[in-house]
Amino acid sequence: MSAVILLVEDEEKLARFTELELVHEGYRVEKSGNGREALELALNNHYDLILLDIMLPGLNGLEVLRRLLKEKQVPVILLTARDAVMDKVSGLDAGAVDYITKPFAIEELLARIRVALKLHPASVLEKAGETAEEGVLSWHDLTLDERRHQVRYAGHEIPLTNREFTMLKVLLENQDIVLSRDTLLSRVCGYDYAGETNVVDVYIRYLRSKIDDAFGVRMIRTVRGVGYVIKSE
Ligand code: CA
Repeated sequence: MSAVILLVEDEEKLARFTELELVHEGYRVEKSGNGREALELALNNHYDLILLDIMLPGLNGLEVLRRLLKEKQVPVILLTARDAVMDKVSGLDAGAVDYITKPFAIEELLARIRVALKLHPASVLEKAGETAEEGVLSWHDLTLDERRHQVRYAGHEIPLTNREFTMLKVLLENQDIVLSRDTLLSRVCGYDYAGETNVVDVYIRYLRSKIDDAFGVRMIRTVRGVGYVIKSE
C-alpha cells in the first residue's frame, strides 16, 4: 500500500505542483491550505507523513505541530521560509523530524520524504505509542482499545458487537499462535457454551467483512483443519 501524505500549504501553485510530483512518485496525497483544517484532518485520519508549511491561515504551522504531536505520533517535515531560523529551531524542538527551506528542489524534498518514511514508519510509531498506553492492542494500522471498547483502522472507527470485539481481542493477544475453534469458542462464549463451534466461523466472517474486506488487508488467516491466526508480520 502506498504511503499517504498530508500536504499543508496555502500557496496554491506550490501546493498543486508538489502534489503532482508526489503523486507521480506513487504517494497518495491529501491537501489542506488552512492550519485549523489541517490539524483536524491530521487528528482524525491516518497519514504516513505530513508536509507542513509554517505561515498558514487559521492556525500557525508550529501550533498545528504542537497540538498534533500531543495527541499522536506522525513524522512531520516543515516547509519553512529561507531566513526563518527560529521557526526551524522551534519546529525541531516541537518534534518535527526534518525541515526543508522554500523554494526547494523537488528532488531534495522527495529524498527527505524517503528518509523520513524509512526512519519513522507509521506502524512502528504507533506501536511505540501503544506500549505506553495500557490495554491497547495493535496489528499494522489497526488498534483495539480495551478500556474505550473501540477498534480503529488507520483512524477509522469500526463498530463491533461484544462478541466480535472479544474474538478480535483474543486473536490480537495471541498473534502468531494458531487458535483452535474450541479455544476461540470458550474464550468468546464462555466455557459452558453448549452450541456449535461453527459460531466461531460466523464471527470470523463478520470480522473479515468489517476489517479485511473493508480495508483490503489479510488480517485473519485460516489454518485449515486447525483454526485461525493473526500473523504479526
Ligand atoms: Ca504559507
